[in-house]
Amino acid sequence: MLCKLVYFLLFELCSLRAASGVYVVLWFDTEDYIEPAADDAALRIASDLTAEGVRATFKVVGEKARVLAARGRTDVISALSKHAIGYHSNWHSVHPSPAEYLVRLGYLEGADEFERREGPGLADVTRIFGTQPTCYGQPGNSWAPQSNLALRRLGVPVYLDEGEHVGIGEQPFWYGGLLYVFRMGKNQFRAQLNVGDEDRAAYKRFDEAVSRLAANGGGLISIYYHPTEFVTTEFWDAVNFAHGANPDRGEWVKPRRRNIEDSERCYGVLRRFVQHMKQNPDVRFVTARELPVLYESPVSGAVNRTAVADHLKRQILFSDVDGQMLSAAEMLLTLLELPPQIVEGPAASGKTTYTKSTIPMPAFHNATQDAAEFIRRFRRLPNEVFVGAETLSLVDFAATLASSAGKEGAVPLVHGTAAFEAFFATEGRRPFNWIIHPEGFDGSALLELGRLQGWTLKPARLRLPARARLGSAGHKPASAYPVVFSQPQLFTIFDLRI
Ligand SMILES: [Zn+2]
Repeated sequence: MLCKLVYFLLFELCSLRAASGVYVVLWFDTEDYIEPAADDAALRIASDLTAEGVRATFKVVGEKARVLAARGRTDVISALSKHAIGYHSNWHSVHPSPAEYLVRLGYLEGADEFERREGPGLADVTRIFGTQPTCYGQPGNSWAPQSNLALRRLGVPVYLDEGEHVGIGEQPFWYGGLLYVFRMGKNQFRAQLNVGDEDRAAYKRFDEAVSRLAANGGGLISIYYHPTEFVTTEFWDAVNFAHGANPDRGEWVKPRRRNIEDSERCYGVLRRFVQHMKQNPDVRFVTARELPVLYESPVSGAVNRTAVADHLKRQILFSDVDGQMLSAAEMLLTLLELPPQIVEGPAASGKTTYTKSTIPMPAFHNATQDAAEFIRRFRRLPNEVFVGAETLSLVDFAATLASSAGKEGAVPLVHGTAAFEAFFATEGRRPFNWIIHPEGFDGSALLELGRLQGWTLKPARLRLPARARLGSAGHKPASAYPVVFSQPQLFTIFDLRI
């Protein structure tokens, strides 16, 4: 079974591989359930892309899926089903949004609440489209870290969106056990819809991004739209739910429309942009379903404990250790002699109350055993580790453990720093500044929980390095897309299931 799976993975990987190592993920937030013309826009875009031989990812809102079914739009559902289907929350902008209902909840209760509120919409999209969505992305910038745990429980392995909350080097990364395509910086752009019949500046930007990424061994470009943008001149939700407004359904108003000629022009802008991107035979379009296959597994193999200790005592941060990219959490598991696996970060921040400069070896040994037992039991890192009645914060425990490796006698207490925190936004208002959120909405508490989960953060590395490129003979045009992974296959390959 395993051999078959490895063969299958290699085969699919070879058929996906871009000669330049550069990939494009093109995605559409399919969310407007108020203006029926947005249904036609989704149909038109999906059909145009199919005609171009390009597969995209349509992230569908739960209510949008229900409305499509209620309006009898099987044509839209079947056109979108030729592409990858993602999930974009149950209600999108009807309050409370995810950040609104999660900002005062902890990590674990927040994950339960996200599952309670968003799970039914995911089930509806699954039922209506006949496939389990392969990715999620938050409405607007209503991000919250508790969604990671819930999404893994719900069987969604990829987080595909944009936001300022967290990111590494403007490329995909692993976070909370999910493959995140987020904060892509200069690798995220689009052809503007409102600059004429085509946006040649975007072509130039694309060509430059391809050259830059190819020169660095490959990478991903993220491009997104909303089908509703092609038929309206204002957002469907901004005209109804701005700044916390929550009118009853009977009071919802439709957004202003583009005229038919203008919509045609917009479809043309996208079509020409896609045609330009397709011209480069060394670049591949990939969907959210295919993305995890391109990247190395989030779960590392066995690594040398001394090398891990050497790294962790210098800084608490993901790193390449002996050729494997490890998160700080994976390094801690290694030092605790636990098997490689996906764990959550701490649910809350802990404190160091221990005041002496050294810890007797037997007491530290007990603390270490207790920490390992906690992780084995809960598959989560402890907030703090007890030494008798006193505690070490997890960061101080990890730094002390790393420094004690191979030494005898009393263990010197070492204070660590969570260097991974530098990859998160620090200010609580700007990253959550979305017209739908109440004015001045402050997501500081969500960022704080998010930083704690930074233990699990690490860059995602493309599975085949550029030096192992396939020759162009093995390359298929961007239109060749036979690859469809089932969710169980993805979970088996990456051992993400919890
Ligand atoms: Zn959206």
